[in-house]
Amino acid sequence: MDNPAIKIPFNRTSLVGREMEYAAQAVANGHISGDGAFTRRCHELLERELGVRKALLTTSCTHALEMAAILLDIQPGDEVIAPSFTFVSTVNAFALRGARPVFADIRPDTLNIDEAKLESLITPKTKAIVVVHYAGVACEMDAIMEIANRRRIAVVEDNAHGLFGKYKGRYLGTFGALATLSFHETKNFSCGEGGALLINDPGFIERAEIIREKGTDRSKFFRGQVDKYTWVDAGSSFLPSDMLAAFLMAQLEEREKIQTSRRQIWKTYFERLSPGAKDHGVRLPVIPDHCEQSFHMFYLLTCSLDQRQALIRRMRERGILSVFHYLPLHLSPMGRKFGGKEGDCPVTEWVSDRLLRLPFYVDLTREEQQAVIESCIYETDNQG
Ligand SMILES: *Cc1c(COP(=O)(O)O)cnc(C)c1O
Repeated sequence: MDNPAIKIPFNRTSLVGREMEYAAQAVANGHISGDGAFTRRCHELLERELGVRKALLTTSCTHALEMAAILLDIQPGDEVIAPSFTFVSTVNAFALRGARPVFADIRPDTLNIDEAKLESLITPKTKAIVVVHYAGVACEMDAIMEIANRRRIAVVEDNAHGLFGKYKGRYLGTFGALATLSFHETKNFSCGEGGALLINDPGFIERAEIIREKGTDRSKFFRGQVDKYTWVDAGSSFLPSDMLAAFLMAQLEEREKIQTSRRQIWKTYFERLSPGAKDHGVRLPVIPDHCEQSFHMFYLLTCSLDQRQALIRRMRERGILSVFHYLPLHLSPMGRKFGGKEGDCPVTEWVSDRLLRLPFYVDLTREEQQAVIESCIYETDNQG
């Protein structure tokens, strides 16, 4: 660990199964570049489990989002609607193609894009709506898809948090024309750095393979569909090493073990922190009945910035690292260049000052979790 005073980190990498064995096997296979046997197994598993038409591993969720922007032919001057309360890449991937981000505020309950505000943000220039299933709790996809289909606008699901989460019984990542996953080390399933593009609209499959392979038809060549491969479109190198796919495969294979353990940790936080929360003005996550969450994170919404900072300090004194995110994108230096200003997204601004994420990883022991709970069990009364 970087800081020896921290005894309980915010996140910790864990091996849950055959990660090292599979990585060694990738080397033994003599194929550690992209699209080897383990990459194929990851694709098959994601396609079969989720029921998506095509899954393609990428080097990151950021890169999968960049692929989505290229596939949707985003051009300078196009507008893309996205929440302000998200990770930079959700929006940057589209800005990179010249799009102007149009920031939507979030719902105060799930902290997901507020579908009731969507329609008023749509203009003739709107090319895409990017939604984020925050904490792996579904956005209101019925309403969002109805609006998008009626206005003929593509939906991209940034599902970095929500692999195996569901909305009304259907997997997240299966609603939009395109969806993305992250396998960064802070996510439920990880290979350090990695991601995937999920394709639900089959019209995008062939071009996605080309974009991912430097703009060449190399995937067709490997399938024997063409006898040489060549440059046919714009593209880049978005495919991960098969060693990373091997590591990831071992984690995906143990998805029940990982999710069972995360569910237990989440439920323990919720049960132990619920009593007293209201009295101290603290709000816990809201999971609507029709959403099956992915148990990606546990957060508190404190009653003030001061209360949050006091909690962070007290936990730090006890060697526990809690963190907050996201700074509203519309108020970032880049967001302001696109015209963002205070008051544009009031719920986002409110939440950003008050949200606190607690340590959450598969190897979090009972004792560690107990220490976290005790350190944040509302002693905030006398803290001013
Ligand atoms: C982590 C994350 C990303 C980026 O994932 P990388 O794989 O690190 O590129 C994008 N969007 C959201 C919502 C994330 O949480």
